[in-house]
Amino acid sequence: MSILVVGSVAYDTVATVRETRDRQLGGSASFFALAASRFAPVRVVGVVGDDFRQEDLDLLARHGIDTSGIERCAGATFHWSGRYHHDMIERDTLATDLGVFADFSPQLPAGWEHTPYLLLANIHPSLQLQVLDSMHDPKLVVLDTMNLWIETSRAELLAVLAKVDVLLVNDSEARLLTGCTGLNEAALAIQALGPPRVVIKKGEHGALYFGSSGTLAVPAILLPDVVDPTGAGDTFAGGFMGWLADRGVDRHSDDVEFRRAMIAGSAVASFCPQAFSVEALIDLDRAALDARMATLTAMMTP
Ligand code: AMP
Repeated sequence: MSILVVGSVAYDTVATVRETRDRQLGGSASFFALAASRFAPVRVVGVVGDDFRQEDLDLLARHGIDTSGIERCAGATFHWSGRYHHDMIERDTLATDLGVFADFSPQLPAGWEHTPYLLLANIHPSLQLQVLDSMHDPKLVVLDTMNLWIETSRAELLAVLAKVDVLLVNDSEARLLTGCTGLNEAALAIQALGPPRVVIKKGEHGALYFGSSGTLAVPAILLPDVVDPTGAGDTFAGGFMGWLADRGVDRHSDDVEFRRAMIAGSAVASFCPQAFSVEALIDLDRAALDARMATLTAMMTP
């Protein structure tokens, strides 16, 4: 069953201690769509500028991703620039150039309002709310966000949060959002704000799931070399949502497939840091993905 994602389609400039790569394909929706497309059909709603390369749209389309909801406007594509610290975890945002995003008003192609799965990827919460309000009775709505919106647009973010089924955040964002230090307390506080299910991502330490069945802790694959972790969170979201869509899970389903989706999300996310930009997600081999899911399951087995 199809997934609709609204989020950024961007060009990223990423600097690590070893190398800098300029204006490569990025954005929350791009990473999400490539990951989720291994499991289910994906439709993207977003905006790009007239500098956006046709080959990047073609790359998404070649993975079966429907790009007809990506509007092309006069101006520059959203550009994010970041520099990683030596640990390849901490990063400083050097620039966030909104470009055509500044005036973006998401429009859904005809019929897309009936898409059963909705992923509100990282963009301004008022845009997320606009898309959510134009949908017709989705089976499952998952929300992603970031510290910027928690700090600058809390009221709008809380309005979206009250209407979604699952929130995906990283550990520092969960603390920032709730004021809680402990992640269990933070998850309970988030559930009180709306979503009954909460996923807290912890980078190289894996991810936590909080649902009706209790807590699940999924580790991260221990990678020999991290090249560029940008997009790993969005890639996790793609694997997580893709798994749920493939199995027809809805908000009333029990927790079993949500717990399995945590393993799928962690497995897909483990590929992302192995190369710059979306490179490691291109033509991602299903057998390699299944092998990583098996490794993660083994890591959780006494
Ligand atoms: P992640 O590493 O999973 O946090 O995601 C990184 C991606 O988020 C990059 O590809 C950026 O283009 C995108 N991004 C960064 N800042 C923003 C923002 N303010 N709004 C939307 N997307 C953003």
